[in-house]
Amino acid sequence: MDAKTKRFIALDETCGAHNYHPLPVVISRGRGIFVWDVEGKRYFDMLSAYSALNQGHCHPKIAAAAKKQMGRLTLTSRAFHNDVMGGFLKKVCAVSGQDMALPMNSGAEAVETAIKAMRLWGYRKKGIAEGQAEIIVCEGNFHGRTTTIVGFSSDPDSYSGFGPATPGFKSVPYGSAEALAAAVTPNTCGFLVEPIQGEAGVKIPPPGYLKEVRRVCSENNVLFCADEIQTGLGRTGRMFCVDHEGVKPDLIVMGKALSGGYYPISAVAGRREVMGLFKPGTHGSTFGGNPLASAIGLASLNVLAREKLAERSAMMGEHFKKRLGNLQHPDIKEVRGRGLLLALEMNRPVRRLCESLMAKGLLAKDTHENTVRFAPPLVITKAQVDAAAAIIASALREF
Ligand SMILES: *Cc1c(COP(=O)(O)O)cnc(C)c1O
Repeated sequence: MDAKTKRFIALDETCGAHNYHPLPVVISRGRGIFVWDVEGKRYFDMLSAYSALNQGHCHPKIAAAAKKQMGRLTLTSRAFHNDVMGGFLKKVCAVSGQDMALPMNSGAEAVETAIKAMRLWGYRKKGIAEGQAEIIVCEGNFHGRTTTIVGFSSDPDSYSGFGPATPGFKSVPYGSAEALAAAVTPNTCGFLVEPIQGEAGVKIPPPGYLKEVRRVCSENNVLFCADEIQTGLGRTGRMFCVDHEGVKPDLIVMGKALSGGYYPISAVAGRREVMGLFKPGTHGSTFGGNPLASAIGLASLNVLAREKLAERSAMMGEHFKKRLGNLQHPDIKEVRGRGLLLALEMNRPVRRLCESLMAKGLLAKDTHENTVRFAPPLVITKAQVDAAAAIIASALREF
């Protein structure tokens, strides 16, 4: 680590709150699947900003759309219409197969929006008594960092010290549709679930789970809300992870890669019967749906389609998983994943493995102590997967 790197890190540690524990690398440039640090060293980016960079770093088509929009109009607020948002939301509805969308900024805000939508539907349509609506969530969930969302987290790092929790949430084991069915009451308005739990360490539910969830929700007049912020937009080898089981949720929450890595953009897309319940003044965001965000979001979705990134994710993911499956080490517990959302679980903490990968030019992050997630930008080539797998093999030999 040279003096420059040390200076940047010291600056962060002095002036920034310590709510992250980053690897000791200071990045100053990115392109495609690669980033370069301030010392000029190149790294494979195997985190993709938690899947916000599916299109790769600094995609030129998205940059061009952003630059063009920046010279024309960037923000109006929703007090007026703008000539970009409608086209963006039309595309969001088209890719998700939904009727209406509501644009926000961060993922957590979109989850909050979905929570409000489900409660509103519970009161206005299902006839639940005011203040009594319940939402069912899953153990091990990660839906963001706002006070309401961390209040129904089962991870003490997320919730402890931040109570009291918002009432109206109930937790069931992930992957069990029977547990969901047993938890439903007449006051249940919605079920909020990740099709794969990314932050929990790439936890994949048993096959058929999402189909069963759809059935339980339909039979009980409960909204099925899929949080596809991390799994959506091609990450798991389909446009949305729910597409693997051919199910259509009532609400889909998206974020992360909707930004193309440029600018925070999120959205909730859903059925008209639900999204249509929002009336003027009931919800909003100063920046949500602004023209710059809309132009970037539209370009990001166009790049996913034009470059067939979901298909590419399926193909490259299969190849990568095979390469990871061939790794030899006595402490390997499991290799799992879907598309390019992959994980290597070991029998002991992997922070040191991540540090060794970093030294060899590959950035990946430990999740929950023993698991390393490998989720490169979806533009990765087969030769690049092979090169990354060779680095991982070499780091494992020394681990
Ligand atoms: C990242 C993430 C969020 C939160 O998104 P932010 O943009 O960080 O607020 C919510 N849900 C899932 C599944 C995520 O991976």
